[in-house]
Amino acid sequence: MTSIGQRSGNARTATPRVVIIGAGFGGIAAAIELRRHGLHAVTVLEAGPELGGTWFYNQYPGAACDVPSHLYSFSFAQRADWSRLCSPQSEILDYLRDVARDHGVDGLVRTNTRVTACVYDEDASVWRVDTESGETYEADALVVATGQLNQPAIPALPGRETFAGHSFHSARWDHDYDLSGKRVAVIGTGASAVQFVPEIAPRVASLRVYQRTGNWMLPRENRRYRPRLRRLFGHLPAVQWLRRQWVFHYGEFLTLLIRHPRTLGQIGHLRSALFMRRQLPDPVLRAKVWPDYTFGCKRVLFSSHYLPALARPNVELVTDAISELTPDGIRTADGREHAVDCIIWSTGFRPTDFMAPMRITGAGGQTLADAWSDGAHAHLGMTVPGFPSLFVMYGPNTNTSGGSIIFYLELQASYIRQALEHLRRGGFASLDVRPEVEAASDRETQAAFTGTAWTECNSWYRDDQGRIVANWPGFMREYRRRTETFDPAEYAFRSAWAPAPPSQPAQRDGEPRADPPTPEPGIAAASPGRSQP
Ligand code: NAP
Repeated sequence: MTSIGQRSGNARTATPRVVIIGAGFGGIAAAIELRRHGLHAVTVLEAGPELGGTWFYNQYPGAACDVPSHLYSFSFAQRADWSRLCSPQSEILDYLRDVARDHGVDGLVRTNTRVTACVYDEDASVWRVDTESGETYEADALVVATGQLNQPAIPALPGRETFAGHSFHSARWDHDYDLSGKRVAVIGTGASAVQFVPEIAPRVASLRVYQRTGNWMLPRENRRYRPRLRRLFGHLPAVQWLRRQWVFHYGEFLTLLIRHPRTLGQIGHLRSALFMRRQLPDPVLRAKVWPDYTFGCKRVLFSSHYLPALARPNVELVTDAISELTPDGIRTADGREHAVDCIIWSTGFRPTDFMAPMRITGAGGQTLADAWSDGAHAHLGMTVPGFPSLFVMYGPNTNTSGGSIIFYLELQASYIRQALEHLRRGGFASLDVRPEVEAASDRETQAAFTGTAWTECNSWYRDDQGRIVANWPGFMREYRRRTETFDPAEYAFRSAWAPAPPSQPAQRDGEPRADPPTPEPGIAAASPGRSQP
């Protein structure tokens, strides 16, 4: 058993021991924030061979962030010398490594350590975290920072296992496989495909791109910053700050368009339609590419290079449904068999599985999978009733269509730090979000989707039941307002000496509302705080 931090006596006067799972932007943000505020007993467990998360795994050609780097970066670690508006993958990964090193948290990361199960011991008020290699870590608080986009999805198409050629997922790019001169199929046309299709198209003999749904697109040239502009950012921090502000408000504007599809959203629709028409002079190709759903319902894609790549003579856009895979390639619903050497799955991730296949068992033996059997939900995307002192980063309903996820992660790191400070100050053993608080905030979140573009199509933001569980329905500034101050009144605190209380299920939509729970013996009354808006 590996135990971090110290505890003394009955009350937990010492610093809580925190295990963070995942060393991507979220995990690193949390580690920095906790250490900065004197919460030193932190360990970060990372399944991969190094820190970086999504920016370590997604190394496909052309991989870059489509959110400008002045916003897609930590507010406390701003850079003047980004090479481009939207930095490439290697620059973002280097940035994260540098920030982790500069803030002294890189040494906290235990790489090649895959967590298999986390079990809450109610009597001891601790989490036991099991790893694939057989180690167990004990922690007073658990931060699950594995994100929404870490498990590649490969659809179970009929005959998939019969395909005799080479294949890989875009998030696990096989750099040892030379695509030059090969007949290549790309399945999926989302944010990843639009970045790598223009890169590989000139290299391959032929490229078939299988599109199920067209996308609304906006321009992104992504030229290098002129040295003079970078010098200006370096010499005048105010200019750099203004740049960040501009990108922030542009992101909020995009969200505004998505929130009002019938009115302001028409501006986005028109802008996108004009851009796409200009990029697609061929009416046949244009008709195939054209999306049939409301602007902003799925992620709007930014590329000035993808649509022209589809018009190359060696590229074919296939919009017939895939009926099966064969040993030689792909058969489509029109009966055609397309022989290919390699299939690249660009079919996205399993975002609504969240941290599965990791098994998380909370109070009363309830697993998170059971608690979320009717769809994932968490208070502010972070805390789930019955899972004491567990915090999720980039959890349910915290994905953004218009902003920067780094902005959300920083707020979450600060919220978690405030919660743990409260725990430490009060000498409490654990905290648990009150079920009625979580249920109310879930209802509020779901209600906020009404009338927005997100409701107007099927997308990866929804779970199997159709609930939108990936996205935050509002603006970045709204998430900041809701999370910037931890409210102890929303939580039940357990004293170190107290027996474990029975856990209470949360109320979901349509179920009768329970009365607020009567404090159990040993549940410390929460100190008065900000009331729920
Ligand atoms: P994605 O956007 O989810 O796209 C998956 C693609 O695969 C879609 O075109 C989807 O079609 C298609 N697909 C899925 N299942 C299929 C099936 N059974 N048969 C045929 N087609 C199928 O995945 P992604 O491109 O990897 O991007 C995922 C997310 O990662 C993005 O939305 C974004 O949040 C993030 N990302 C961000 C950046 C960035 O620059 N910031 C870059 C890449 C990715 P349908 O549309 O019909 O479902």
